[in-house]
Amino acid sequence: MPVNEEPSEHHGSCYCGAISVTVKGPPRASAICHCHSCRKWHAAPINAWSIWKSADVTISGPMITSSENEASGRVSCAKCGGCVANHKPKVNMTVVYPMTLAGSGFAFEPASHIFYSERVMDFADDLPKFADMPERMGGSGERVEEPAKTGWRA
Ligand SMILES: [Zn+2]
Ligand SMILES: [Zn+2]
Repeated sequence: MPVNEEPSEHHGSCYCGAISVTVKGPPRASAICHCHSCRKWHAAPINAWSIWKSADVTISGPMITSSENEASGRVSCAKCGGCVANHKPKVNMTVVYPMTLAGSGFAFEPASHIFYSERVMDFADDLPKFADMPERMGGSGERVEEPAKTGWRA
């Protein structure tokens, strides 16, 4: 394969390596998610988020699936507790947390901020900021104004 050609698969793992993840092709979308659920589950102020068609995602190893509701099934490792993926069965899509793919050649390039209305941090980075999701992803498409500076919100 020529060196500058994007590989068609990326492989990743959880924190301890017991879970393996493979994604095929580029994600359908990449964003930074600010939602309350991601913040609680990842124990982090923001979440790097990329979504693939579920048919393009393979996950194997000892898993725990936590479902807040029938639209979401968050997959973590039964050994280390590391966060790996979030199945969206209603739309046949799967979020794979791109940091699990770090080192596999996958470059996380967020195109927008999603659920920005729920944020604890502001980002002055000129990326589009959606109150929930873009319309093409089933959201309202409502935008939030660019902040003056990056930082924790008061
Ligand atoms: Zn693990
Ligand atoms: Zn989220």
